[in-house]
Amino acid sequence: MTRMYEFAVTPAVTNIRRRGVEICEVAPDSLGAEMDLETGDRIIKVNGRVVRDYLDFRFQTAGETELVLEVRKKSGEDWEVELERAEGEDFGLGFEQIVPRQCANECIFCFCNGNPADARPSLFIKDEDVRLSFLYGNYTTLTSITEDETRRIVEQRLSPQYVSVHATDLDVRAYMLGIDKQRADISTKLARLLDAGIEVHAQVVLCPGINDKEILKKTIFDLAAEYPRITSVAIVPLGLTRYNTDARLTRVTPEFCREVIDQIVPIQEQLHSKLGTNFALLGDEIYLRAGRRIPARSHYGDYPQIEDGVGMVRSFANEFAALMRRLEREGWSSANNTAGTIFSGTLFAPVLGKMIDKMNARFGTRMIVEPLENSYFGGDVSVAGLLTGQDILQARERVAGEFVCIPKQMLKSDEAIMLDGMKLTEVSRVLGQPVHAVNLHELTTLLLSKN
Ligand code: SF4
Repeated sequence: MTRMYEFAVTPAVTNIRRRGVEICEVAPDSLGAEMDLETGDRIIKVNGRVVRDYLDFRFQTAGETELVLEVRKKSGEDWEVELERAEGEDFGLGFEQIVPRQCANECIFCFCNGNPADARPSLFIKDEDVRLSFLYGNYTTLTSITEDETRRIVEQRLSPQYVSVHATDLDVRAYMLGIDKQRADISTKLARLLDAGIEVHAQVVLCPGINDKEILKKTIFDLAAEYPRITSVAIVPLGLTRYNTDARLTRVTPEFCREVIDQIVPIQEQLHSKLGTNFALLGDEIYLRAGRRIPARSHYGDYPQIEDGVGMVRSFANEFAALMRRLEREGWSSANNTAGTIFSGTLFAPVLGKMIDKMNARFGTRMIVEPLENSYFGGDVSVAGLLTGQDILQARERVAGEFVCIPKQMLKSDEAIMLDGMKLTEVSRVLGQPVHAVNLHELTTLLLSKN
């Protein structure tokens, strides 16, 4: 399952059955260029071992100084390239993206069911790929992992792995994943990974009335029994768009979030005194919806699942406070004229707004924070990563100042394009202002540079 917040992977579906891995970039004067490798060539084997993707290439070349590459040239010729390299010397090659494996589940809460029918095809990709889990922290359910993949994780140390557990009660897990109990049972597979020293981070998508209350408690304690092999469990709320009409699903309300916090706090205390870590961490959304304070920095340890929206707000708040102190120390001008608009998701905007208000009061900046409603997905979708270009344009009358900042998660990871296909340049042209897509760290850097 791809994180809700990202759409990081565009599959090269046309390459799905081709052998080897395609070279997409050769740096000038690199080892690759010296070997006359070109874009469009495919590396089929390294030292006689099959290469399926760039992870294989990385693994099979690691530590090797004498290499024989079998290459299928773009022209169709087959080459055998022998090379020697200094230890750790880079090849200067860029490769095609990994084509994700698709899942065979029918999760009742699958985000694909919440897409408008005309959404871009990449939003319908039900990826379930242990390689992407290792590379980008995407979650898998391990329900259809093959023997070959399991062996590969262990052999290539594709650790950590991010696993959507949802419930350790098998009836509930099977129900949630829309599969039979036998497939839902991943205990043997999980044990094999853990026994091999693969670190696992677990996730629970919390669905009211389905895997909450006692089921949630059991899940947390079952997983915590494997600590430190299972490092943490992130508990994130179900998100429903206006297109989710499945009667089995109940929307997450502020009241529900408050109940969850009240249930989890004593469990965290209990686990903390036993394990030295809170282990079960609630997603930021749960605190924001509940109207409760985000926990302190120490609550999150080393932020094991921050990319899943667990501790992101705390991390930013602390970073922002540090920035304010730094500006004070450096004597940042109190008559600063920086004026601009920061767009954010509706849940985070009030939190960010308070921080920016303090900055304005202290330094004389005229920054405003504007919440962006999600008109594309509707429902209770309030995270920044699912906002679209249309959402910004609909808010154009609220733009003030000389520049606009939007959350970087709104863009595709490798292209300045949004979920609805609108390009950043287009948005900038319509608004008549520079639009910067920034993460929270880059936002502070940008504000500093405007001084
Ligand atoms: S069906 Fe389940 S596992 Fe598959 S993509 Fe959807 S949510 Fe993820």
